Formats: sequence, C-alpha cells, structure tokens
Amino acid sequence: MVHFTCDLCGRDITSSGEDRFVVKMEAFPGFDPNEIKEEDLDDDPMEAVSELLRRDEEFASRNDAEDAGRRHSFRFDLCPSCHRKFLRNPLGKSNASVLDFSKN
Ligand SMILES: [Zn+2]
Repeated sequence: MVHFTCDLCGRDITSSGEDRFVVKMEAFPGFDPNEIKEEDLDDDPMEAVSELLRRDEEFASRNDAEDAGRRHSFRFDLCPSCHRKFLRNPLGKSNASVLDFSKN
C-alpha cells in the first residue's frame, strides 16, 4: 500500500481515509536569455553585441543561473484542508501585507 502524507501539514492522508489532492507546478524562464531584442539593435550593432555578451556574463555569473534556466516541476500531495488553503492562496502570499501596501 502506497503511503501518503500531506506535504504542507504532514498529516497522514492514507490511513485517515481522506481524499488526497495532487498539486503540480512548473517553473521555467518565460524569456530567452540569449535573445536579441529590437531595442538592442537601435544603435551601433557592435554595441548591441557587447551588450549581449555582458548580459550573458551577468546571467552566467549568478549562482542560481543554472537553476534559473532550467525547467523545474514540483508535485505535492495535499490533504483536503491544505488543498482548500492552496486554492485560496497558491503562492502563499501574505494577504495582510498585500492589502497594506496597496493602500499607499
Ligand atoms: Zn495538510
């Protein structure tokens, strides 16, 4: 028998006989770091090339560059109550602080 625990609260889903909900997420770059955009070609083409090289270096020098350029997929098993919480707030944002900031 496959054993499942809730990835959020750690509750044992299998033995409690509760429904299990599966959440799948994917994270991947919505841009091509090597793409030359039109605004890059406005001026001197050589300048655009060096700008592109500089950007490449910047991208590569980031510690997480490798991770950022890759596609990540996540899979979570959730108990019914955590599933409800997830649907209300998928990114785990703090609602209180969001409201505070929008007032200003
Ligand atoms: Zn849970």
